[in-house]
Amino acid sequence: MMQQYLETKKNYPDCILFYRLGDFYEMFFDDALTASRELEITLTGKNCGLEERAPMCGVPYHAVDNYLNKLVSKGYKVAICEQMEDPKLAKGIVKREVIRIVTPGTNLDTLALDETRNNYLMCIVCMADRFGVSVADISTGAYLVTELDSARKLTDEIFKFSPKEIICTQAFLMSGIDVEDLKARLGITIYTLDDWYFDDELCRRALTEHFHTESTDGLGLGDFNCGVIAAGALLQYLIETQKTSISNLTQLTPYTSGKYMVLDSSTRRNLELCETLREKQRKGSLLWVLDKTKTAMGARMLRSFIEQPLIDIDEIELRQQAVAELKSNAIAREEIREYLNPVYDLERLISKISYQTANPRDLVAFKSSLSMLPHIKYIMGDFKSALLCNIREDIDVLEDLCTLVEQSIIEDPPISIREGNLIRDGFHEEVDRLRQAKTEGKTWLADLEAKEREKTGIKNMKVKYNRVFGYYLEVTNSYKDMVPDYYTRKQTLANAERYITPELKELEDVILGAEDRLVSLEYELFCEVRDKIASEILRIQKTAKAVAGIDVFASLALVAEQNNYVCPKMNSRGLIQIRDGRHPVVEKMIKNDMFIANDTLLDNHKNRISIITGPNMAGKSTYMRQTALIVLMAQIGSFVPASEAKIGIVDRIFTRVGASDDLASGQSTFMVEMTEVANILRNATSDSLLILDEIGRGTSTFDGLSIAWAVVEHISNPKLLGAKTLFATHYHELTELEGKLSSVNNYCIAVRERGDDIVFLRKIVRGGADKSYGIQVAKLAGVPDSIIERAKELVQELSDADITEAVHEAKVEGKSTKPKKKKYDQVDLDQMTLSDTVSDEDVLKELKEIDISTLTPIEALNVLNRLQSRL
Ligand code: ADP
Repeated sequence: MMQQYLETKKNYPDCILFYRLGDFYEMFFDDALTASRELEITLTGKNCGLEERAPMCGVPYHAVDNYLNKLVSKGYKVAICEQMEDPKLAKGIVKREVIRIVTPGTNLDTLALDETRNNYLMCIVCMADRFGVSVADISTGAYLVTELDSARKLTDEIFKFSPKEIICTQAFLMSGIDVEDLKARLGITIYTLDDWYFDDELCRRALTEHFHTESTDGLGLGDFNCGVIAAGALLQYLIETQKTSISNLTQLTPYTSGKYMVLDSSTRRNLELCETLREKQRKGSLLWVLDKTKTAMGARMLRSFIEQPLIDIDEIELRQQAVAELKSNAIAREEIREYLNPVYDLERLISKISYQTANPRDLVAFKSSLSMLPHIKYIMGDFKSALLCNIREDIDVLEDLCTLVEQSIIEDPPISIREGNLIRDGFHEEVDRLRQAKTEGKTWLADLEAKEREKTGIKNMKVKYNRVFGYYLEVTNSYKDMVPDYYTRKQTLANAERYITPELKELEDVILGAEDRLVSLEYELFCEVRDKIASEILRIQKTAKAVAGIDVFASLALVAEQNNYVCPKMNSRGLIQIRDGRHPVVEKMIKNDMFIANDTLLDNHKNRISIITGPNMAGKSTYMRQTALIVLMAQIGSFVPASEAKIGIVDRIFTRVGASDDLASGQSTFMVEMTEVANILRNATSDSLLILDEIGRGTSTFDGLSIAWAVVEHISNPKLLGAKTLFATHYHELTELEGKLSSVNNYCIAVRERGDDIVFLRKIVRGGADKSYGIQVAKLAGVPDSIIERAKELVQELSDADITEAVHEAKVEGKSTKPKKKKYDQVDLDQMTLSDTVSDEDVLKELKEIDISTLTPIEALNVLNRLQSRL
C-alpha cells in the first residue's frame, strides 16, 4: 500500500494527497506534518518498512469537506485519491486513483464560497511586453479573456477581479509586479505552471476541442495571441484538476479593458467600492448602499457593475432607462422582487449539476426556483425599455425541466443519492413495482398462499421462509400426493416437503431484491434526470444571467427611490455639474438626515481644478469622494444622490488620499505618496477625474508647497494634462493660483467661529479659507485644555517670530522695513463669502455700535437682515 501511495504522490508533488483508506483519508510524511499543523489534528505514525515510522494523520471521510476547505482556503492544493473498487471484492491491493484536485481557485464546495462574489481563477501569460489574461469561475461558468500592454494595467485587472488563485508563466514573476505584495493584499495563491501548459499549439487545440470550433478565430480570439494561450492554459489546468471536461464553461468572452472605466487598486480601496478601507467590511461601502438584490446571481452581477463602470454613453443610458422604468413602476418591481426571493443560485446549481455533484435537494431547489420564472416573465410583459425587454426575452421559463423534476423527484428528499427515497411514485413503473414489493410483499405472499390452496386443495399449505432456501411452500406428508407438477421440491423433512414454484421464485426475487434494486435504480434515475438537466445548460445559464439582470435593475431602482436619487444626464463634453450632491454612504451613516448637500462644477474650460481649503474635519474629503462616487455611480447606470446632475463621461478616476494603509509595505509615507502622484500624472488623461488630498504633506512645508503648486500647474495645462481635479490642501498659498491660472477656482468649506470654538457648516463656498483652525479642531477632539492653552501661546510666539523674520528678510533685500503681512494670511478676502469664517463677536460689535435713534424702520429691518445673514 505504501508503494502505491508513493507512486501516486510522485505525480502530485505540489499537492497534499488525501489517500482514502476505508473510512478515512490519510496523509503521510510531509503532507501529514503540514496537515496536522494547519488542521490541528493529531499526528501519529505508521510502520511502512522504513527505518522510522512514517508521520501520518487522517480525517474521517464524512467530514472531509470541512478539512478540505480549511486547507484550500489557506492556499494549499489537495489531491483526492479514492478507492476505485470495493475493498471486499478487490484482489490484492485496492485500486486507487486521484479523482480531483481542489485548489483555491477551483473549489466548488458551496460552503467554502461566498455567494455574493465570484471565485475566480486567473491565468497570466507574459510575452515580450504584452500580457494575456484569462479568468474563470467554474462555480458559475464565467470565462473571460483579454490582453493588456502594461504591467500597470495588469495590476489593475488583478485588483478588479481579485482572484483566489493565479496560475502563470515563470516570466510573470519577473515582470516587475510585486508578487509578494499581491499575495499579502489579496490573500491569493500564485502558482507557476510547467511550460507545456503554455504551448501555443496545445492551447489552441484545447480551446477548439472544448468549444467544438474549427479555429480560435471562430471564438473571436483572432487578435489575442497571448490571450489565447492564457485561456487555453487555464482550460487545461481546469481539466487537469477537475479530471473531467469542464462542461459548464459554455462561452469564452473576449473583452478589451478599454470598454470600462479604469480604476487602479488604490482608487478602488480609497473610494470604498466594495469594502471599507480600514475594517474591510461590506457595511460602509458603496456596494452596501446599492445592493438590495434578492439573489446570489444578482449580488454578483451588481458587484461586477461596480467593479467595472462603463464609458459608453449609449450603454449607460440603456441601463438608466431600465432603472427608470422599474423606479416608476414600483408595484411591478416589488412583485418581481417577491418572486425573486425564493430563487436559488441557478448559476452555481447548474454548475453542480453539470459536474454531477448536485444532490436531490439541489434539484428540488432548482425546480422551486424555476417555478418562479413564469410569474416574473409575466409581470415583465408590459415593460418597454430595451434592456428589460431583452431580459424578458432571455428568460426561458424552462417548463420542461421544471416538470421533469416535479414529476421525478419527491418534495423533501434526503441529501444522499445512494439511499433511495428520491424518486416520486408514478414516475417509473419499475420503481413503483419495487416499492410495492417492499411494502406489499407480505400481502402478495398471503394471496399466493390462498391461491395455491384453492388450486391444489391442500388446505394446510403454508408459505414460509428461511435464510438458506428463501421462500417456499410447505406441504405436510399427508397432502404430498396432491402436489401438482409445476412444484419443484427443494427439501424433504420428516413430516413435510418444501417446494417452490416459478411464481413464488419471482415473488421472492421481487421482494428480496427490491430494496437493493430500488436503491440502485433510484440512483440511476436521479442521475438520468440530472444529466438531462445538464444537457440544457445553455438555456439555464442564459436564464440565470437574465434573472441576475432584472434583480440588479430592480435593486438599483429601489435604492434610487428610497434614497431620493435622480437620473444623471450624461454628456461627452466633460461637464460635471452636480446640484445638492450627497455622499451616498456618509448620508446613510449620519443620523436624522443631517447630511449637508453640496454642489460641484467641473468642466474643460474655466472650472477644471477646484482648490479646496478648510480646516481638518470640515468635510473636504467627504466632498471630494462624493463627487467621485456620483460620477462612478452614474457610469454604472445607477441614479445618483443629488437633486440634479449632469455627468461628463470620465475614462478614469484617480485618487490620492491618506497614506495609512500603505505603511505596511515598508516605504516611507512620502515615498508612497509621490509614487502615486507620479502614477497619476503619467497615466491620467484630459478625460480623467483626479481626487488629490493633501499632496506634498509628507515633507517640509516649502518642498511640499512647491510640489503641490507645480502639480496643479501641470494638471491645469491642457497641453500637458488638463484633467478635471479636486485638490484639497492645507497650503493656503495655493489659493493664489486662482488668479494666475484661468481654469483654477478656490473653494472652501465654511466654518463659523463661536468664541474660542468653531462650528462646522459643511457647506462648500467659493473662496479660500484663511485659517487652519488646527487648535480648535484639537480642542474638539478632546486634547487636554492645558495643551490647547500652551499651543495658543506658541502660535502667538511663532507668528511674532514670523513677522520679525519678515522684517529681517526685508532688510536684507534692502526694501522698506515695514513688516510684510504674514504669508499665511495673504488670502483675497473679496473672494470669501459671508458665511465663511465670520465670528459672532463681529456681529455683536456692529450691533452695539448701531445708533437706533437715527434709523428709519425700513433701515432697521435691513440692518437686522444683514446681521442675521452673517450668523
Ligand atoms: P476633512 O477631509 O476636511 O478632514 P472629512 O471629509 O473627513 O473632513 O469629514 C469629517 C466628518 O464630517 C465626516 O466623518 C462626516 O461625518 C462629517 N461630514 C463631512 N461632510 C459632511 C456633510 N456634507 N454633511 C454632514 N456631515 C459631514
